[in-house]
Amino acid sequence: QAKEQGRNRWTVFDASMRDAVRERVEIEVALRAAVAQEQLSIAYQPIVDLTDGLGTRTVGAEALVRWEHPVRGWIGPNMFIAVAEDANLISALGAWVLRESVQQLARWRDKGVVDGDFWMSVNVSPRQLGDAAFADRVAAILAQARVPAANLVLEITESVMVEGGEQTERLLLRLRELGVRISVDDFGTGFSALGYLRRHPVTGVKIDRSFVGGLGASIEDEEIVRAVVAMSSALNLAVVAEGVETTAQRDVLAALRVPLAQGWLWGRAVPASTFAAQIRARERVGEPIAVRSD
Ligand code: C2E
Ligand code: MG
Ligand code: MG
Ligand code: MG
Repeated sequence: QAKEQGRNRWTVFDASMRDAVRERVEIEVALRAAVAQEQLSIAYQPIVDLTDGLGTRTVGAEALVRWEHPVRGWIGPNMFIAVAEDANLISALGAWVLRESVQQLARWRDKGVVDGDFWMSVNVSPRQLGDAAFADRVAAILAQARVPAANLVLEITESVMVEGGEQTERLLLRLRELGVRISVDDFGTGFSALGYLRRHPVTGVKIDRSFVGGLGASIEDEEIVRAVVAMSSALNLAVVAEGVETTAQRDVLAALRVPLAQGWLWGRAVPASTFAAQIRARERVGEPIAVRSD
């Protein structure tokens, strides 16, 4: 009887496995074409200076990749970045995002849409950092676009610091020597002990939105943010709070002296042309404006 049950479980397991594998293969094939045919696009989300308490001034942008599949419609990066990593597509995809977003920054700088301090944040997957040529590629992209290295922030995950070996460490150092800034994304969700922050040449952390969501309601989340701010000022790290959606959350963050923030309260990720129009509008009005698209 037990044997019988076991076999049934296997059948079920098999079928769902097959579906998952089939879907993944399908996405992989389509993604390969999308990368080759440049069906991908980049949306930009504002990062604001919160030291005025409101976040009136946009001081940077995060580049977030978007994929419009001809049949499935918009597919979020949480779904396809993992596929790209497994299928060895992440280097090509990541290089494209980097080049495209740095060139966009160059155009905004040239047109005076943004000032000289404005930075572009770009997500980098652990796999990209395994590529020894990565730092040279970054340097070449910056040189070609004539963008100073300090205006580029690379967002890495905590796992890079924990699992990355000596080679990753050398690569991060090399990037710092170039002047590129390095921020730890989704800070607090991984396994990073504080020691990692000191050992690795990082310049900032982004407080994960799971800690921001409870602000105003959860004392625990508030204490976590307070601790991150204290640690960051001791280690001289830039702190960005992610996923800020309400004025109540913003007010708590401002009271806790979190210097930088990002979230739907100020704007979703939007195409470059929309982004430029929005930062101008926000500076004129001095208040967050409603945005529709992501
Ligand atoms: P992330 O780097 O932590 O980016 C922030 C994510 O939170 C984005 O999701 C953004 O749209 C979303 N977000 C921003 N503000 C709010 C808010 O107020 N509320 C809520 N609920 N969400 C908010 P998105 O664009 O779907 O990206 C998901 C993840 O995919 C990113 O998380 C990043 O890890 C990865 N990703 C995106 N673009 C790239 C890329 O070019 N390369 C790599 N390697 N990863 C990327
Ligand atoms: Mg990020
Ligand atoms: Mg994040
Ligand atoms: Mg995330």
